[in-house]
Amino acid sequence: MTGALFSALFVAALGLSVGIQLWLARRQMRHVVAHRAAVPAHFADRVTLSAHQKAADYTVARTRLGIIDLLVDAAVLLALTLGGGLARLEPWIAATSLPPLAQDVALLVSVALIASVVALPLAWYRTFVIEDRFGFNRTTLALWVADVLKGALIAAALGVPLAALVLWLMARAGALWWLYAWLAWVAFQVLVLALYPTVIAPLFNKFEPLADAGLKERVERLLARCGFRAKGLYVMDGSRRSAHGNAYFTGFGAARRIVFFDTLLSRLAPDEIEAVLAHELGHFKLKHVIKRTLWFSAASLGLLWILGRLVDEPWFYAGLGVPGAAPRYGVALVLFMLALPVFTFVVSPLTAMYSRRHEFEADRYAARNASAPALVAALVKLYEDNASTLTPDPLHSAFYDSHPPAAARIAQLEPGPA
Ligand SMILES: [Zn+2]
Repeated sequence: MTGALFSALFVAALGLSVGIQLWLARRQMRHVVAHRAAVPAHFADRVTLSAHQKAADYTVARTRLGIIDLLVDAAVLLALTLGGGLARLEPWIAATSLPPLAQDVALLVSVALIASVVALPLAWYRTFVIEDRFGFNRTTLALWVADVLKGALIAAALGVPLAALVLWLMARAGALWWLYAWLAWVAFQVLVLALYPTVIAPLFNKFEPLADAGLKERVERLLARCGFRAKGLYVMDGSRRSAHGNAYFTGFGAARRIVFFDTLLSRLAPDEIEAVLAHELGHFKLKHVIKRTLWFSAASLGLLWILGRLVDEPWFYAGLGVPGAAPRYGVALVLFMLALPVFTFVVSPLTAMYSRRHEFEADRYAARNASAPALVAALVKLYEDNASTLTPDPLHSAFYDSHPPAAARIAQLEPGPA
């Protein structure tokens, strides 16, 4: 491999990934617009035409923003790599005469800052223009700014020590550094999982124990029936920021808790809430969570092994616009994280397919342990409340969607002629 050849490969992969994503986005918009005039037959008596058209317009607006996002990301990636951004940043950081490890961390932090600052205007636009136009936004500019700052501080508090540890291992731990770095990465994931429910999430939202005695009893009966133990049932003030509703499990082991968005509780009837929760329980009981975690860990190990090979290859640095001696640990880590999505893009349909299979299984679990009609009713309400389109382009959906289209989920839950 030579630097020039790797540059050509990188540009070709980037062009292919951007091209496919643009093509899918256009297909999605065309398909949704083509089906905008009428509610699909199967939903005709459950969804109003105005809700259907709102979903179509919302989908088009978000897809259009996604295109801009995609192009901005590609431009930033090219500017940092082949455009010479990192090649200019590196000597500038070297001139600070910090110790080598601190220089590497500074390079990572600088690139993370650049990427975040570039992403801010679009994030602002998403919340205050698009979400606002469709009536979903409930956040204020002050709250949004506070969220951004808190997010940055948490990312720094958790990310900088991890980056420093990995860079230290790269420089000092010998040929098997990638294996130790992987162990550190797995330990880090467990730490974040442990901190999230009790330390991180409360920085953004208020959590109150579920007060509704009737619902609480219903949920506790469901948990007992499914043989599931949780440390508590909480209601989160999701309505502070957005009208979108959700429910989730968080934490692990004995510290597991169940969290309902207040927006979900206000919209769904008790039997529908029970069905949604049964679906989420299904993900645990059918070991989806552990399977996903194991896949993710295995993939991380493989990728770190690859980085372990690349770090000593001068063509890797030259091919991505930062020629010079090898190894340079900070540069290698930054380049790897920047270029990785361009090459792993091709597997995204596989991970989406895997996830959709789990969704079908969790729906079946909910039908067995709660009620299929209640789950259908909840799904229709949630699709409507979130303005999710009922008529996605089949190819776009197959490529990206972690959840099957509404019609497919409901068809499974309502056997017989549709
Ligand atoms: Zn699910």
